[in-house]
Amino acid sequence: MNILVTGGAGYIGSHTCIELVKAGYNIIVADNFVNSCMEAVNRTRKLCGINFPFVEIDFTDYEATDQLFDKYNIDTVMHFAGLKAVGESCKIPVEYYKNNLDSALSLLLAMKKHNVKNFIFSSSATVYGADAPIPYNESTPVSRCASSPYGNTKLMIEYILKDAVKAIPGFNAVLLRYFNPVGAHESGEIGEDPTGIPNNLMPYVAKVAVGKLDMIHIFGNDYDTPDGTCLRDYIHVVDLAKGHVAAINKIKEDCGLFVCNLGTGKGTSVLEMVKAFSKSCGKELPYEFAARRTGDLPAFWADPSYAKEQLGWVAKKGIQEMCDDVWHWQSKNPNGYSN
Ligand code: NAD
Ligand code: UDP
Repeated sequence: MNILVTGGAGYIGSHTCIELVKAGYNIIVADNFVNSCMEAVNRTRKLCGINFPFVEIDFTDYEATDQLFDKYNIDTVMHFAGLKAVGESCKIPVEYYKNNLDSALSLLLAMKKHNVKNFIFSSSATVYGADAPIPYNESTPVSRCASSPYGNTKLMIEYILKDAVKAIPGFNAVLLRYFNPVGAHESGEIGEDPTGIPNNLMPYVAKVAVGKLDMIHIFGNDYDTPDGTCLRDYIHVVDLAKGHVAAINKIKEDCGLFVCNLGTGKGTSVLEMVKAFSKSCGKELPYEFAARRTGDLPAFWADPSYAKEQLGWVAKKGIQEMCDDVWHWQSKNPNGYSN
């Protein structure tokens, strides 16, 4: 099977390329580098042990997308490409809608023209919305409106894919709802490399550990949780990548629409994460409590039982391994890919 990996130079895409190649799939990797770089592709090629084809392309460009499908014989699209910063999406919502929706639509139109029927989509737990009971399971209705324009792009693409499955005979769409991906490849060669000051907890903590930032700010310590800080379901990016390989087996069964959480089923607090990372890097990391961050939910985690039942997939790596691997990546590459 030939798999087009869009956004394959990015954090989750690059780790997934390795697992796909390990599992024997042919990959065609594509990205426009809006949030990544060629060095990530070069390192991923090395870790894969093959020089897989790479195409620099902006998927909002339908003509270019169509030409890519002319050139390569693609069976399945794994769609990671997209803008993903929640805060930024509130500042430039129109650009987020344009990039994320146009990319998905170009791909779907090109797929239709070239009779490609399999689409695996990077969705997010954010589609469940603030009122969903915890743990989130797949039968919980999605929110009518997500808490950010970014989240709305995920909801809208989910709707588009659901309609495509209804309308296009033989079309399969797998919607994978990720919880909080963290960690890095065990080699320390690839990992998460955000530009500027990270918004997410794990890359921020890693930058403090490596001395690039002074202090961790923990947003809120008065939540109704065991230690007062928020709980999230952190999942190792390599486990997440393996979840995508498992999802291909579902596609092979002609699943039609298949929606699944990829999480561990365990909530971990911000303080617990900071402590685990301190252990990984061998020093107490400085932190202070700060005001709650607008829009944060106190706690959520996945019910992972459907993924186990349907995909035979369970996340195996624990919090300490996630932190150890991030520290390995960050300490080996203090400036990320621009060493
Ligand atoms: P990332 O930014 O590292 O990777 C996304 C890649 O897509 C980048 O390399 C970027 O250059 C590329 N891209 C963006 N727009 C493009 C376009 N128009 N054409 C071609 N390439 C384009 O992000 P990631 O963390 O690897 O996330 C991958 C996917 O998973 C995204 O769709 C994201 O929304 C989703 N997701 C991520 C998380 C998370 O916490 N990281 C959680 C849930 C869902
Ligand atoms: N967080 C924090 N300090 C930071 C970044 C994040 O305390 O510098 C907290 C945030 O409030 C949330 C958790 O860490 O409770 C995870 O945040 P992240 O942005 O990584 O993921 P989210 O679950 O918001 O998508």
